Amino acid sequence: MTETPVTENKAETADPKIRVKGLKKSFGDNEVLKGLDVDIASGEVVCVIGPSGSGKSTFLRCLNRLEDITDGKVVVDGFDVSDKKIDIDRVRQHIGMVFQHFNLFPHMTAIENVMLAPVQTKRASKNEARATAVRLLEQVGLAEKADAKPANLSGGQKQRVAIARALAMNPDIMLFDEATSALDPEMVGEVLQVLRDLAKGGMTMVVVTHEMGFAREVSDRVIFMADGYVVEEGTPEQIFGDPQQSRTQDFLNKVL
Ligand code: ADP
Ligand code: MG
Repeated sequence: MTETPVTENKAETADPKIRVKGLKKSFGDNEVLKGLDVDIASGEVVCVIGPSGSGKSTFLRCLNRLEDITDGKVVVDGFDVSDKKIDIDRVRQHIGMVFQHFNLFPHMTAIENVMLAPVQTKRASKNEARATAVRLLEQVGLAEKADAKPANLSGGQKQRVAIARALAMNPDIMLFDEATSALDPEMVGEVLQVLRDLAKGGMTMVVVTHEMGFAREVSDRVIFMADGYVVEEGTPEQIFGDPQQSRTQDFLNKVL
């Protein structure tokens, strides 16, 4: 009997956590994603930057099929998201998403917001969900606000509750769409710190952001999008230090 080798190089053979091939998305006649190819490895932190209207949000929303995919393939965690027949709710349980506007339930306390999805989807008993929520609120620095209603929280605190809520489903991947854009400047730092900690903890993250300092410091890779294309991608050093495309250079000249 021949033995199968057990020391295969995982890094070379492992499938990416997210594989996007030829992704196109149109709204009516308006093609806003024009064929994206992006692979994201497990544990990788990818920041997506680019001008307003370039398709960054649409790209993110295609990853968990909040938008129907017009053409191409999107595979997340081994699930073919672009396959209409797939149980998308099951896939979404692996993917946490945080938006610019936190969308917390106003009549529920912070901890109730964090507990809701695990209880509703029957992933956890109420007691388990509460224990997890306590831990997560602690993780985002809000243990003492567990019983506060959203109206009594600052923008930065609300966004941190929203992150805890997304983490409550124990996702493998976190998507952030301009999570700090609606915040007063003095609150941006506390939210970015939570993202930084998540990145350090090995979470796979796709982060659409205008915070160039954050992208430079935290990301493993930066993707610059314009007009529905990935114009350029590379390490933060490459993109911010030595951008090759004139569109990237123009954009960075405007925002830096
Ligand atoms: P970004 O996040 O980079 O600012 P978006 O992905 O939000 O860009 O938008 C890209 C383009 O798609 C824009 O022209 C926008 O008007 C259009 N778009 C986005 N969502 C919709 C929608 N639900 N219906 C129609 N057009 C949309
Ligand atoms: Mg957007």
